[in-house]
Amino acid sequence: MALIVQKYGGSSVRSTELVKRVAERVVATRAEGHDVVVVLSAMGDTTDRLLDLARQVSDLPSPRELDMLLTTGERMANALAAMAIQALGAEACSLSGPQAGVLTTSAYGKARIVDVAPRRVRQALDRGAIVLVAGFQGLNPETEDITTLGRGGSDTTAIALAAALKADICEICTDVDGVYTADPRIVPEARRLDHLTFEAMQEMAASGAKVLALRSVEYARRCGVTVLVRSSSGTGPGTTVSASADDGHGEGGAITGVAHDVSCAKVTVTGVPDLPGTVARVFRAVADAGCEIDTAVQNVPGPEAGVTDVTFLLPGEGAPAAVAALRGIRAETGFTEVSQDDDVAKVSVVGSGMRARPGAAATFCEALAEAGVNIEIMSTAEIRISAVCRTARLHDALRALHRAFGLDKPAVGSGA
Ligand code: ASP
Ligand code: MG
Repeated sequence: MALIVQKYGGSSVRSTELVKRVAERVVATRAEGHDVVVVLSAMGDTTDRLLDLARQVSDLPSPRELDMLLTTGERMANALAAMAIQALGAEACSLSGPQAGVLTTSAYGKARIVDVAPRRVRQALDRGAIVLVAGFQGLNPETEDITTLGRGGSDTTAIALAAALKADICEICTDVDGVYTADPRIVPEARRLDHLTFEAMQEMAASGAKVLALRSVEYARRCGVTVLVRSSSGTGPGTTVSASADDGHGEGGAITGVAHDVSCAKVTVTGVPDLPGTVARVFRAVADAGCEIDTAVQNVPGPEAGVTDVTFLLPGEGAPAAVAALRGIRAETGFTEVSQDDDVAKVSVVGSGMRARPGAAATFCEALAEAGVNIEIMSTAEIRISAVCRTARLHDALRALHRAFGLDKPAVGSGA
């Protein structure tokens, strides 16, 4: 008998019909003799609809009240599922995040889980009940307020509960049947992976792969929680994400996949005086505007010495605030101009095999060149190479990279 945490995403419970289907699957798992803890997201696009309601009554809704509002979506789904399970004759008990002992930092809208004290979850399990926990939310012990964990946060709830309960496995049940080498809607040759390491999954999620929320992967890696990504309706084997270094390729390591991100924007600051401290001021202003940046490059000073350009990517929704903040320090910093470009996409190739491939960057650039994709920014990390290109060229870029790195052929020994 195992202790299993199962998380179902919003699209898997977008109607009461589907809630009943999830209830059947959960009851079937319980009938196999396992203890089951279920974490549900809000039904369908409930979270977006709640955000829209907030915007209808206020241009600037208070973050505290927004969290009060948004957390109801998950409570609703979990309570309904508990009723559906009870209607099937099994015992069930739904708990809000705070009731389940999910403790977080105080930042509304983007709180981090600091601890889980799952006393009530344990009690209910010991009574023989299936326990349902509302995802995406917790309690800050200092303010005693309810917080949310940021979009996609139910994945983190499930993994944090699995860690606290020392569960045998955390299943993330979703509308795809595993983690793929690329988005199959764009790259038809994409293949499901049987297994990948936390490290590779973390890079894939950070590069835009949507299947698992980045923070949840970081949490799983830190606590060593083995995650199984599988279909919420089918019975396929899914994809295991674990610490095992075996990615099916022995010592050289594998190329895991290609990922993309179209939600990013590119900000360029031109004519930055080439003096100590100016670039620091640029990035401090962006940070103070609440934006996390990535892929930052500073060009070597050009022929008209004395100035340089700085370009970076940031989440598109944060770009206007960052640009406004930069305009505010333009005079004192002495740069010429700041511009924002939303028509960009980032493509990345990820895999531990990158370490052992001296020519990886060349292969990467050649593939994009052959596909006629212009590289606007490029960056390399230990197990990832990324490039920024026009959004319109994204699909060609992904297909070319997928082919060039041999991802369209089944990997030797991976069984995929
Ligand atoms: N319902 C929240 C969202 O839409 C949390 C989640 O689905 O994980 O982002
Ligand atoms: Mg989700």
